[in-house]
Amino acid sequence: MRFLPVFLDLQAGPVLLVGAGELARAKLRVLSAAGARVRWYATDGHHDISGLGPVEDRVERAAGDPLTAELTGVIAILCAGAGDIGVAMSVRARSVGLPVNVMDDLVHSTFIFPAIVDRGDVVVAIGTGGTSPVVARRVRERIEALLPARIGDLAGFIGRFRTSIAARLPEMPLRRRFWERVIDGPIGALVLSGREQDAEAALNRIDDAAAFAAARKGGADGSVTLVGAGPGDPDLLTIKALRALQDADVVFYDELVSPEILDRIRRDAARVPVGRRVGQPGIGQRAINRLLIEAARQGQRVVRLKGGDAFVFGRGGEEVDALRDAGIACSVVPGITAGVGAAAQFEVPLTYRREALRITFLTAHKAEDAGNVDWSTLTDTRMTVVVYMGMTAAPSVRAGLLAAGRSPQTAVGVFSKVTRPDAQSAVGTLDQLPELVATIDGGPAILIIGDVVAHSAPWRQRHLNQTISQTISQLLETAE
Ligand code: SAH
Repeated sequence: MRFLPVFLDLQAGPVLLVGAGELARAKLRVLSAAGARVRWYATDGHHDISGLGPVEDRVERAAGDPLTAELTGVIAILCAGAGDIGVAMSVRARSVGLPVNVMDDLVHSTFIFPAIVDRGDVVVAIGTGGTSPVVARRVRERIEALLPARIGDLAGFIGRFRTSIAARLPEMPLRRRFWERVIDGPIGALVLSGREQDAEAALNRIDDAAAFAAARKGGADGSVTLVGAGPGDPDLLTIKALRALQDADVVFYDELVSPEILDRIRRDAARVPVGRRVGQPGIGQRAINRLLIEAARQGQRVVRLKGGDAFVFGRGGEEVDALRDAGIACSVVPGITAGVGAAAQFEVPLTYRREALRITFLTAHKAEDAGNVDWSTLTDTRMTVVVYMGMTAAPSVRAGLLAAGRSPQTAVGVFSKVTRPDAQSAVGTLDQLPELVATIDGGPAILIIGDVVAHSAPWRQRHLNQTISQTISQLLETAE
């Protein structure tokens, strides 16, 4: 490491900027965004600060020769677009011991600019020793994705309570554990979700004796996060979902969650399958609720990971009820539901101007379920119907819709293992629905019923194939 990252106090004095043109203006932008006061020697005589926003009162347009300028109180010197003056300025800065940066000139710089992630009080500096700004930018993108947007608010929140908590809890190691519990527990989660007032109320409610006893014991309060894993492709996880997987102590997951997604779980986290497996029933919803509550009570960060979205045929509602009754902090991270994943992958616009104005998501797991559906509410030709768990019940779905009066010519699609490498589709008309399902090699699969399916990629392909084979047979006939 040649350059040690340190943070410069911009309140301590002005920064001297020497240079001209766009390069100098770019530095001016960086400095003023950070709140610096800048004394600018424009080496071409033009102090053009137009278009730089409200920086005017923080930029002092200096005249004269920077090489003989007064440097008392200056905290750093920056040369951008300064030509040879930059090198001379560097010599001068070093002779008086001031940090100096000459743009794109490592030899004459005693400090360099990092790439910055700026979240208020939380600032991350990324350096590559001046070797590769492009690599630094890539690293910054990764960190941006990993850090909660409100991490700076969390730092500020703790900053406001530091003194009062220090008075109540003078022992340093205990205090540190106390803050760890706050950050990792429900209060931290409240701040990160933008509910700072609730967090403040919760912090004020903390009863000294109990909280400090808990801090002595160590560990944080447990919590449960319901995470929607999406339909299979790990790149469709939300940033928040990924973060929850990376923070988890234990993950309870369903059979629908793909191995590629399980790969994204923090290596040291425990993984517990709780779904149905082929030929075997699952452990049941009550048992799952119990496991979640027990794990959270042990102070663990629990993730309940489900295919698609937890609140779309995922029994997430029951789990949230149970956690609420048990007094366990819980939050929900949405996922891309299978129907929406299928629509995106196979280009089925679920709504379409004038043609499709409504969407219904329904489940028809068994023929009996299909018997419970009131099909007469689904006859609107401008409604797209998305059926979950509908493979086995496909004949009943067709019978129900036809009996209610929906046209046998309505376009339908069967989409299986959507967003996974082995995804499949079959499209046709409502009267062919069970036959289409039969062409698919196993689920999970979603059925989409409605005219919008005629806009889909597989439908267009099928149409193209039909046209080609018709043309070929016509050609063959004329040849005969
Ligand atoms: N909560 C899930 C749905 C669970 S119900 C979600 O929001 O997607 C299970 C049903 O979801 C399956 O029977 C199937 O109809 C559908 N499904 C889940 N993953 C799927 C996938 N990758 N491809 C097609 N359908 C899927």
